[in-house]
Amino acid sequence: MSHTNRSIHINGIVQGVGFRPFIYNLAIQHQLTGSVKNSASGVDIEVSGLVNDIDAFIAAIPRLAPPLSEIDEIKIIEVASHAFDSFQILQSVDKSTDFLPVSPDMSICSDCNSELFDPNNRRFRYPFINCTNCGPRFSIIKDIPYDRNSTTMAGFKMCSACSSEYTNPGDRRFHAEPIACPDCGPKVWFELTEGNDRLVEEEAIQTAREMLKEGKILAIKGLGGFHLVCDASNEHAVHELRIRKNRPAKPFALMAFDTETIKSFVHVTPPAESLLTSRQAPIVLLETKPNTEIAKNVSPGNSKLGFMLPYTPLHLLLLEPGEGFPNALVMTSGNLSEEPVIHQNQEAREKLSAIVDGFLMHNRPIHRRIDDSVFAIINNHPYPFRRARGYAPNPIRLSEPVPDILAAGSQMKNTFCLTREKYAFVSQYIGEMDNWDTYQHYQNAIDGYEHLYRISPQVIAYDMHPDYEATRYALNRAKNHGLTAIPVQHHHAHLAACLVENGIEPTQNITGLIFDGTGYGTDGTIWGGEVLIGNCKSFTRRFHLKAVPLPGGEVTVLKPARMALSTLWAYQLPWMENLPPLKALSELEVDTLRHQLVNNINVIHTSSMGRFFDAVSALIGLRMEISYEAQAAIELESLADREEWGYYPWQIDGQEINVMEILKSIIDDLHNEIRSEVISARFHNTIAHLALDLAQKVRNDTGIETVALSGGVWQNLFLLERSLYLLRENGFTPLVHQILPTNDECISFGQAVIAANQV
Ligand code: ZN
Ligand code: ZN
Ligand code: FE
Repeated sequence: MSHTNRSIHINGIVQGVGFRPFIYNLAIQHQLTGSVKNSASGVDIEVSGLVNDIDAFIAAIPRLAPPLSEIDEIKIIEVASHAFDSFQILQSVDKSTDFLPVSPDMSICSDCNSELFDPNNRRFRYPFINCTNCGPRFSIIKDIPYDRNSTTMAGFKMCSACSSEYTNPGDRRFHAEPIACPDCGPKVWFELTEGNDRLVEEEAIQTAREMLKEGKILAIKGLGGFHLVCDASNEHAVHELRIRKNRPAKPFALMAFDTETIKSFVHVTPPAESLLTSRQAPIVLLETKPNTEIAKNVSPGNSKLGFMLPYTPLHLLLLEPGEGFPNALVMTSGNLSEEPVIHQNQEAREKLSAIVDGFLMHNRPIHRRIDDSVFAIINNHPYPFRRARGYAPNPIRLSEPVPDILAAGSQMKNTFCLTREKYAFVSQYIGEMDNWDTYQHYQNAIDGYEHLYRISPQVIAYDMHPDYEATRYALNRAKNHGLTAIPVQHHHAHLAACLVENGIEPTQNITGLIFDGTGYGTDGTIWGGEVLIGNCKSFTRRFHLKAVPLPGGEVTVLKPARMALSTLWAYQLPWMENLPPLKALSELEVDTLRHQLVNNINVIHTSSMGRFFDAVSALIGLRMEISYEAQAAIELESLADREEWGYYPWQIDGQEINVMEILKSIIDDLHNEIRSEVISARFHNTIAHLALDLAQKVRNDTGIETVALSGGVWQNLFLLERSLYLLRENGFTPLVHQILPTNDECISFGQAVIAANQV
């Protein structure tokens, strides 16, 4: 049997996830000597031993790797034979241009969960218990290589008990960088808004629980930022929170102690349950059961509730079942409307004191703010609505290496994307860029990612919309740093993102059914009901909704009643007395609107599908004015009668989708007093059949059978489900987003892959 040496380099998510002790133990098992160490680009291993043992060792690595790790590549080099005395874990080395992905923050593991409630454990009821398999990561990492000194735990000096676990390769906490215990780690405390003395530890948690029981509103510091929290069954408390936060109707997320409790409020299918209980522990949107104790004003006009499980030890202690304690808590992002989630104690005191009755805080600093992720389930698969905690900054793997690119993203639901080699790092959800604080957060987050991954982009991709903050940022930066700037049409980015996410060749032509709210078109109008044919290099616009006027722009987006009348006007349909949108507006408003339309004053034109949904929502008398994005469409979807399969006719004139007959049929149904649940369903069915018709027309011309569904309108699950069914029944291969949300969170990735194919 021959003796040899091998040098092995592994990259992927291999730091901060218990990889070195895993390698250490595996090497010992295979009678190998040598060493393992973290580098800035992964893990470097050197082994010496019998050839068979080394082969078996290497084969076992991907098979037995620790749960939070993700191996991208194992490189093996044969090196000169020399002997080691033992197997050792060595100090990290930093080669400053190397890089590697880092792990997202992960929910508490089952081992830590049992220790938390074990009176004999030294971390009994300690709110910051964690191990190499769970706990904070991305939110506390300042730099790589990942070790304690480059996290926000650097300021906590380990006690001797923690230190001996940390240095023992046989321990679950070997090199768990955020390791802590009641003696040496972070502490939780409670403070009232009126400067009273602090209550600490268990007393702090119990005080918070008492106040929640009494219907009070609290700010609670979590993993990636603060939450605003109250009893979800207390209609008065929820109402109070809505008033204080100035958030009249947008649904609030909920947290309950365990899956059984969640099941008492909503329908939990098996795939929904595995998503709820996954390590990522996102919010999952689930169909509400009738007559539960959840207050009606938690999610008004919406048939779904968003639930998550406690994902940190602090949340578990907070939600522990107890006499009179609420079964579900509202846990909404701690921010002022449209600002980024608050992540620092002082900022929370300054900004949230007017909203809350008290603070549950702690002193483990959050370096990177990150919101909760949100998913729905479609056809038994997870379907992202917001991608943040637990998922970001996981990279998307590309099939070919690409240059260093920064893609600036969109205006609403912004993310940015940085590429390096075969990785595309799409940021966590950043938010609405018209907000100044969000824009600051955006710039800081870009700096942070560029530093963390050592990326200095030479190319910058941006949306064609001249008024987007991200576009201004991109053009400024291109000018100041001499970067190549590549403009990308918004809906082309949607198509490309969906294509690459689904592993299709970047040069393959597909059909894109891009049903969206807003996007700047190449002709200067606002697009959004688009059928594109294209790939990552180029596209053509094959069909689109006939453009209608959007008088006054934003004011009509906020008032679907105006959109309804404007749409009727565009189709020369009369504004009849008894139409709900006409009744909803004052005489003055109607006259002004008519004047604007007739004289073409301050009118832009749009082919947006989102606006068409708004118009129909108002036309049937459902939603005349909105207080959050997509409210009219969300309420229209919630209303739809699932048993109804009828649909209305439409017409295609050249490239234009003419919806005159749809509008007329809806008005007829209104006159015939058809229930609005049925009208809503018929309208949704119509758009699903229209989607099929458009895909068939493209297939007749081109033979293309792969159809990407992207754009915010596809967050409408009723529409998505019926469209997918029709497309599959008719021999198409529909593609939906799986990693990124179908809304504008996917734009930056689409921009990046288009730029990569154009440079
Ligand atoms: Zn753990
Ligand atoms: Zn300790
Ligand atoms: Fe969009």
